[in-house]
Amino acid sequence: MQTPLFNLAHARSGDKGDKCNLGIIARRPDFYPILLRELTAERVKRYFGEWCHGSVERYELPNLEALNFVLNGALDGGALASLPFMKPESWWIALGAITAGLTTAMFMTPVVAEILAIPRLLGAPLTARAELGLAFLLGLTAMKTWTYFWVSQIGMLAGTVVYVNAGTQLAKLDSLSGILSPGLLGSFVLLGIFPLIARKLVEIVRMNKVFAHWKKPARFDRNLVVIGGGSAGLVTSYIAAAVKAKVTLVEKHKLGGDCLNTGCVPSKALIRSAKFLSHISRSAEFGIASASATIEFSDVMERVQSVIRTVEPHDSAERYTELGVDVVQGSATIVSPWEVDITRDDGSTQRLTTRSIVIATGARPFVPPIPGIEDVGYLTSDNVWNLRKLPRRLVVLGGGPIGSEMTQAFARLGAKVTQVEMGERIMVREDPDVSELVTQRFRSEGIDVLLKHQAKQFMIENGEKILIAEHDGQDVRIPFDAVLVAVGRVANLKGFGLEALGIPTGRTVDTNEFLQTNYPNIYAAGDVAGPYQFTHTAAHQAWYAAVNALFDPFKKFKADYSVIPWATFVEPEVARVGLNELEAREKGIPYEVTTYGIDDLDRAIADSEAHGFLKVLTVPGKDKILGVTIVGEHAGDLIAEYVLAMKQGIGLNKILGTIHIYPTLAEANKYVAGNWKKAHAPQKLLAWVERFHAWRRG
Ligand SMILES: Cc1cc2nc3c(=O)[nH]c(=O)nc-3n(C[C@H](O)[C@H](O)[C@H](O)COP(=O)(O)OP(=O)(O)OC[C@H]3O[C@@H](n4cnc5c(N)ncnc54)[C@H](O)[C@@H]3O)c2cc1C
Repeated sequence: MQTPLFNLAHARSGDKGDKCNLGIIARRPDFYPILLRELTAERVKRYFGEWCHGSVERYELPNLEALNFVLNGALDGGALASLPFMKPESWWIALGAITAGLTTAMFMTPVVAEILAIPRLLGAPLTARAELGLAFLLGLTAMKTWTYFWVSQIGMLAGTVVYVNAGTQLAKLDSLSGILSPGLLGSFVLLGIFPLIARKLVEIVRMNKVFAHWKKPARFDRNLVVIGGGSAGLVTSYIAAAVKAKVTLVEKHKLGGDCLNTGCVPSKALIRSAKFLSHISRSAEFGIASASATIEFSDVMERVQSVIRTVEPHDSAERYTELGVDVVQGSATIVSPWEVDITRDDGSTQRLTTRSIVIATGARPFVPPIPGIEDVGYLTSDNVWNLRKLPRRLVVLGGGPIGSEMTQAFARLGAKVTQVEMGERIMVREDPDVSELVTQRFRSEGIDVLLKHQAKQFMIENGEKILIAEHDGQDVRIPFDAVLVAVGRVANLKGFGLEALGIPTGRTVDTNEFLQTNYPNIYAAGDVAGPYQFTHTAAHQAWYAAVNALFDPFKKFKADYSVIPWATFVEPEVARVGLNELEAREKGIPYEVTTYGIDDLDRAIADSEAHGFLKVLTVPGKDKILGVTIVGEHAGDLIAEYVLAMKQGIGLNKILGTIHIYPTLAEANKYVAGNWKKAHAPQKLLAWVERFHAWRRG
């Protein structure tokens, strides 16, 4: 049972010589107003008697400081022990409680204690009120009641022991030099490492629980088995082999996965041919009165395949075998936390024992269950590459990056493309001005971009395929020859053992910040782990998955998602790193915007590509970069400078102070920094400098 509201585990009242320490589980919201208003020892007994199993424990404590240590120790111990069970977004509450507890404990001298005790005249000691407030906050975290109860009890006990020890040592102080006594120093060291020990203990308990049903092999055939040979799996096994681990990579279809075979590589190859054609159609802009091209669509698609073949050796079994990876062609199934069954293409099977496993099974196109979709037949990013005849009228369902890239490419190759998007704009993750610019360009190239159109039904009427879409309550009929479904991708989660092992999944495999599943030796990386679905993020996660899988419990790293860039390869190209305005507003992060229009850039003008903009979000009043969006020619390459800047903490001032080659598109990066500088010029100082020059002129 998830707790929506109240999960109060600790309520305490303190008063000199008469203390009540209550470890309770209460789901009675009606208590709180009373408690927070007037908390007296008598009332506590009255209200909480039944919840304390009829007993109110009495502590005979040397003094108020020690009492405070007990209270804080119990609270912090409980909070700390609860941490691993909370959702990360709730941790700040627990950490706030711990910090507050620690601070009060550290600064509690008899004088402060007496001052804090004054409000008891009004009904409740302030410390008790504060602590109840914190306990109340903790109660707001989503956690199972039973889990909260038992971890709190264990944590409170351990915390109390550690804090009482520190408090007692403090109470014995009779001179300043006593602060450096081994006893007191030892107590504080214990206080410092207590949270770490508490966490480790909880981790061990959880690990034992999850492994309890399984028999661990005495020894292992492999250090690591990687399931899936796409970007994530290849990089994982590469790193494992590089650090001399014994690693097996299992791929059931084609090494290179989506990126090489059906994703990044073929799509970028197709986009390049399409862009070439677009230049021919724009020949007049380049001073060439007319230019023409004879297109064989099948040749274009053959070129795509030849590009794949050229890149293929980078991801081949031969290359990886040479690097030290045991590459197996077959389908992998996890049968226990340490065993993977492999069914090879010839039907033979093999069971490998392994210390760790990395799941890198990727994702596939999502096909929505729209009535009639199976009857008309549909293309996805998986099979569109088999086309050899250009559809005359193509409907592209979806306004995301893949849908948009395919829309423009097919339109430029000569298809009449209708892009159908149910939202208010395409490329919805980007700022509205970005979507607007791309939509305008699409429309100027003859693409029919239909927004707020929800696909409702597919049908065949008199041999013609028709999509019925709903727009503003009206049905719109869209006749077509082929439909490409690009409405998102779903992780491959079924059929290889996750269900049998009870590995939790949502849209992707559930992992912690170390990319561990609920089994600490089973990791996930790439599209199957999310939250991003890019080749470079898959490779980035792969490093963490490989290193953590091979070196935990000695060392492990949290996956760092602080600076994630991406690009959508439409024209104008759109690239982003960090926040855009939309996200900054959603997250309530204050920002300043500085822009630069690429229509002003010499090189862009010379190239007849003078369109698009740079938009940089910075911390108000500072040059610290929060995020950058670039729309324009080669935006995906230009953004690299800002990715580096953000990763290395370089601000706009330093970018402005860096020489950029003239005339290049990269100068735009410097000019936007210049615009920021102009807007932040020290006006008062400049007024004085002006006076100085006037004075020098005499
Ligand atoms: C049209 C398109 C264009 C794209 N363009 C870009 C782009 O420009 N830039 C970019 O960064 N990203 C792009 N992407 C996304 C990119 O392709 C993916 O993010 C990336 O391929 C994810 O890699 P992965 O290793 O997680 O999964 P995948 O590449 O899907 O690899 C998973 C592999 O696991 C194998 N497998 C699954 N189950 C098993 C099993 N039980 N046993 C053995 N093997 C198994 C599969 O056969 C597959 O080969 C694009 C995607 C598409 C579809």
